[in-house]
Amino acid sequence: MTVGSRRPSVRGDLVAMEGYHSPQVSVPVRLNTNESPFPPPPGFATDLAAAIAGVEWHRYPDRAATALRTGIAALHDVPVEQVFAANGSNEVLQTILLAYAGHGRRVATFEPTYALHGHITRLTGATVVEGERDADFVLGADEVWRVLDEGDPHVVFLCSPNNPTGLVDPPELVRAVAERCARDGRLLVVDEAYGQFSPWSATSLLHDDLPMVVSRTFSKTWSMAAARLGYALGPAWVIAELEKVVLPYHLDAVKQLAGTLALRHTDAMEHRVGQIVAERDRIVAAMTGSGVRVWPSGANFVLFRPADGDGDGVWRRLLDAGVLVRNCASWPRLGGCLRVTVGTVEENDLFLSALRAATAA
Ligand code: PMP
Repeated sequence: MTVGSRRPSVRGDLVAMEGYHSPQVSVPVRLNTNESPFPPPPGFATDLAAAIAGVEWHRYPDRAATALRTGIAALHDVPVEQVFAANGSNEVLQTILLAYAGHGRRVATFEPTYALHGHITRLTGATVVEGERDADFVLGADEVWRVLDEGDPHVVFLCSPNNPTGLVDPPELVRAVAERCARDGRLLVVDEAYGQFSPWSATSLLHDDLPMVVSRTFSKTWSMAAARLGYALGPAWVIAELEKVVLPYHLDAVKQLAGTLALRHTDAMEHRVGQIVAERDRIVAAMTGSGVRVWPSGANFVLFRPADGDGDGVWRRLLDAGVLVRNCASWPRLGGCLRVTVGTVEENDLFLSALRAATAA
C-alpha cells in the first residue's frame, strides 16, 4: 500500500522532553520503588473477589465515586466535598496542574524533589520555577520567599516527606507557606504520598480559607500500588475545579470497590506503618557510622551516600548481591546518592549485610 510519508509533528514543547523512567530489574530483593513489602490483608482479597461478582459491567461506574470518597472523608474526618479521588496520586497531581497550571503559568518546586512535579507541569505547558534545598536537603523559609517573589508561581509544591530525600518539612514552615499563598492567591500542593510514615501531616492545617491541597496515595501504606488509587483533600472550591477537569468515569468500578474495601482494614494498615517505621529506624541506626552518610527519614525509604561518593559502584555491588535499590547517583544535586525502600525484616537484613560488603570493597 502506498501511503504518505509525512509524520504529524508532536507539540513543539514536547520535542526535547524525555518520558519518566523507573527501571525494573528482576532480583530477589526489590527495594527500589517505595512499595509496601506486604501484600494487602487476606480478608481484603476475599472481600474484593466477592464484591466484584456484583459489578454491573454493562453500566458506567458511579461517576462521583461516592462510597469511596465517603470512606476517605470519614478516615480524615472531613466532608465528602473536600475529597477528590483519582488513578494514583500522579493523576491527582496532573488534575491539579491541568486546573491551576497550563500554558503561560508557573509552578514552583524545591529541588531535589519528586521528578513528576516538574514533569507533569511541563506536560501541561506551564513553566517550572525551581527553588533549592540546602546542602543537607533542608528547605529554608527564605528560599521559599525568594522563589515566590521572583518566580510568581500560580502553584507551589511541597513534598513532605520529600522523595527522594525522606526529609519532613516542619509544621511551622508549611503553615507559613500556606498563609503566604493565601495572601498572594497561589495554590499550595503538599504531596504526602508518604504522609502516614511521618510524625505530622499537613492535613491538620486544612481549612476552607487556605488554598492548600494535600495529596495521598493507596500505593504505599495501603499495599495497593497495583490498584492505582490516590486522592486529594482540600477546600471544596478547589475540589470542584478538579472535578471539572478530570475525565468522566475516570475511576473504574473495581478500583472504587478496592479502595472502599481497603478502608475496612485501617487497623491493619496502621499496624504495618508501625512495623515499617520501626524497621526504617533500625536500618538508619545500622547504617549510621558504617561508612555511609544517611539522611533522617520520615518516609518508608532512606537516602544515603557512600563515604567515597561511589554510588554507582555500591549500587552495582548491591545488585550483584541480589539487592536492587534506586540509583540516584547521577541525578541533579544528588551526586553519589542511593535510596533504599524499607522492606521486610529479612529483606532489610539482606540489604544491610550486602551494604556492609559493598562498602568494604
Ligand atoms: N508523590 C510522590 C512523592 C511519590 O513518590 C509517588 C510515587 N513514586 C507519587 C506521588 C505517585 O504515587 P501513585 O501515583 O502511585 O499514587
